Amino acid sequence: MSQPPTAAPLTVVSVSAEVAPWSKVGGLADVASALPVALAERGHRVLGVAPRHAAYDDAWDTGLTARFGLFGQRHEVRFFHARVDGVDRVFVDHPAIRRGGVYGTDQGGYADNLLRFALLSRAALVAPALLPGFSLPTDGADTVFLAHDWHAGLVPLYLAARYRHHGLLSRARSILVVHNLAHQGRYAPGVLPGLDLEARWRSVLDMDGHVNVLKGGIAAADRVATVSPRYAHEITTPEHGFGLDPILRMRGPVPDGIRNGLDTRSWDPATDPHLPANFSADDLSGKAACKAALQQELGLPVDPTAPLVGCVGRLDAQKGIDVLLPVLPWLRDQGAQVVVLGSGSPLLQDALRRVNGDRVRVRIGFDGPLSRRITAASDLFVVPSRFEPCGLTQIQAMRYGAVPVVAGTGGLFDTVPPYDPVHQQGHGFRAWPGSAESLRHAFGDALYTWRHWPDSFAGLRDRGMRHDWSWNLPAAAWEQAMTAALDAPAWA
Ligand code: ADP
Repeated sequence: MSQPPTAAPLTVVSVSAEVAPWSKVGGLADVASALPVALAERGHRVLGVAPRHAAYDDAWDTGLTARFGLFGQRHEVRFFHARVDGVDRVFVDHPAIRRGGVYGTDQGGYADNLLRFALLSRAALVAPALLPGFSLPTDGADTVFLAHDWHAGLVPLYLAARYRHHGLLSRARSILVVHNLAHQGRYAPGVLPGLDLEARWRSVLDMDGHVNVLKGGIAAADRVATVSPRYAHEITTPEHGFGLDPILRMRGPVPDGIRNGLDTRSWDPATDPHLPANFSADDLSGKAACKAALQQELGLPVDPTAPLVGCVGRLDAQKGIDVLLPVLPWLRDQGAQVVVLGSGSPLLQDALRRVNGDRVRVRIGFDGPLSRRITAASDLFVVPSRFEPCGLTQIQAMRYGAVPVVAGTGGLFDTVPPYDPVHQQGHGFRAWPGSAESLRHAFGDALYTWRHWPDSFAGLRDRGMRHDWSWNLPAAAWEQAMTAALDAPAWA
């Protein structure tokens, strides 16, 4: 349900390396997809700019091109366009970009990612003026660029260095949005001349003798934001700052922390076409059917009394799968069934394959429909991350009636207040990040509640399902942050 804007209509240009459904590696794609739609529904003009990683059936060739000098060559990019759900989507095409993968292959990142994302950033800055029907106001006085993560980190730099001082974008502002501080775009200093920036801006990119694109973006952006209030604080500390906490504190006091919403129209258990049965908080019979169907699909005993624990995510050190592994035998002994879906690190994939067996099912791969079937079937859903900027899977879980067991960090901390049996409040169970022992304790509480206090467990499930996880509130917060950016003088 859309809400009226509280601010004057803005022109928003959202720039990201991935955007669902055209390309997706993780939650960034979900946000780059849904936040623009939520803002458009509030009356803003929104342009979503992303790479054309492959040919997309619904995006047509505008025939428009732009040329940029980068790394000693003239590069021509081509603009493809689709208008979907009130948002103009622009896909930037170039032979270096069109590779299929978003960031690289199983063997690692593409060697020329800096060129690929510099092209994306340069193209995003000219796209609004080029696109027919999306003409900018004369000086960009209502225009905000949302630069998501390091891949768009050159947008604030090029805006400040090249576009601020003339014409269309003289009053435009940029917000660098940190979805994950661990990925910074670090390169040897030798790449600097290729970026075609004057000396002043080259020093903005310098971090301990290296080029650090995220640092440059943070230093040049008019405002910095991230995807949950807790993570906004965490990244200003040495423990979670990945070396950038001094820069973030300098921008301080803390960046805007706006929790991600969920596309609750797509993630709706009452209508999700990928589920064998639909259900809602008022009628959970379909959830029991989803559980039985998944148990059957994966060859697990079809047993409604066995608590089913789901887990979906990238297999990366961040996600703490290695913290979950030692807890699996204990969960099995408790009579639980565990289903894990993930892809990523070959090492973690192998470790998971080894535990596939009695009461534990592991599926390696990226499979959207299966992730929904697992989430819908689960009684408990575990997110054991070492750090988690926001996290969407725990929100998807709550929406689908699976009670989360999470590490208390970042957005997991914000979205999963712990169960309070006295006041019958809270959404789930919390563990210390990185501690298998603490995770086992959290599961102990969760399973005890499931077995001995079914009404309390039902209350937990019900609160999670009925909570407003939509983009309505976050979109209003984004509106405020963008308006504040436009009202303040340019930062750099
Ligand atoms: P991150 O962005 O760090 O990967 P999030 O929890 O914010 O983590 O978002 C992950 C998104 O990707 C969610 O929409 C989740 O459902 C989806 N996802 C992650 N792994 C898989 C997978 N193996 N198959 C299908 N969907 C997945």
